[in-house]
Amino acid sequence: MKDKRTELSDLGEFGLIEHLTKDIELTHPESICGIGDDAAVVEIGNGLCQVVSTDLLAEGVHFDLTYMPLKHLGFKAVAINVSDICAMNAQPKQITVALAVSNRFSVEALEELYEGIKAACATYKIDLIGGDTTSSQSGLTICITALGIASKKELCFRSGAKEYDLLVVSGDLGGAYMGLQVLEREKEVFKTNPNIQPDLDGHDYILQRQLKPQARLDVIDMLRQLDVKPTSMIDISDGLASEILHLCKSSKVGCHVYDDKIPIDAKTSMVALDFNLDPSMCALNGGEDYELLFTVEQKHADIIGSNPNFTIIGHITNASEGVYFIDKTGAAHQLRAQGFKHFD
Ligand code: ADP
Ligand code: MG
Repeated sequence: MKDKRTELSDLGEFGLIEHLTKDIELTHPESICGIGDDAAVVEIGNGLCQVVSTDLLAEGVHFDLTYMPLKHLGFKAVAINVSDICAMNAQPKQITVALAVSNRFSVEALEELYEGIKAACATYKIDLIGGDTTSSQSGLTICITALGIASKKELCFRSGAKEYDLLVVSGDLGGAYMGLQVLEREKEVFKTNPNIQPDLDGHDYILQRQLKPQARLDVIDMLRQLDVKPTSMIDISDGLASEILHLCKSSKVGCHVYDDKIPIDAKTSMVALDFNLDPSMCALNGGEDYELLFTVEQKHADIIGSNPNFTIIGHITNASEGVYFIDKTGAAHQLRAQGFKHFD
């Protein structure tokens, strides 16, 4: 047994987290939710809870500085953490920022990174309250922890979806992935001939979706104003398919998702078709859209269905019915996640 070696790829990212953390028990009564949701939840008294989420971005894995300006990277690193706080239906309040940085970077470069971080703090009205800085042997790693506040009764977990609830998504999907495809294509062209200028014209929308994603804090506010409390919620970081499966697994339910309902912007679809990709597959497996996926009770069908910020894409079923994707011909396929996989 001593020489046993298991490859990380045998487990994959989610399998690895589960493997390492399966015997971890919460010992404090204040720790209401630990591993397994978008953020952990700690009760702090007076009916209030603190939510906490950490996300790490590594150069070469999550970002490529050939086309990602450092200012945008700073903004994105904050936004994706704020998105996890929003996914709990909580209000983001503070962040800490930890950096590991190689001497390839100048002070001016890191100032740019911080311009983006500060811009995001201003946008989402959050305070930067600390962090850590260290040297790195290889490139840049940025790790942000975000803190937020919610009343206990406002909180939304991944685990609350019930049979007959409606499955809803904010905004539109697949744009961030198509933005990445355009950037990667132009990078390849540049590598073969550095004299050719990148052709990014007309791709503003999808490039923004990739380079400057927004956390949907406005959606949290909107839902509160509409007096609709989701029964469950998750943010879409790894692709719609992966997040639907997380939500259904946590809630112990099944669901039907309809291909023809998935909201995809016309600009995203056009570029997908140019790349010979099915736009729906980009939405299902692309990732990095940072929209919110949530379930609501049937009674909210009209108010949610008539709101242009939301699209009802399916409904929750009994767990025994499974998780199905209904294609445009009406055929049902078992939903699988093929999003970006670490350790494959
Ligand atoms: P998200 O995509 O919403 O950021 P992740 O898929 O990264 O969520 O993480 C899923 C859950 O696993 C979260 O509750 C997160 O806190 C937890 N988690 C991730 N990595 C680790 C780790 N190395 N140790 C303990 N918990 C972890
Ligand atoms: Mg999340």
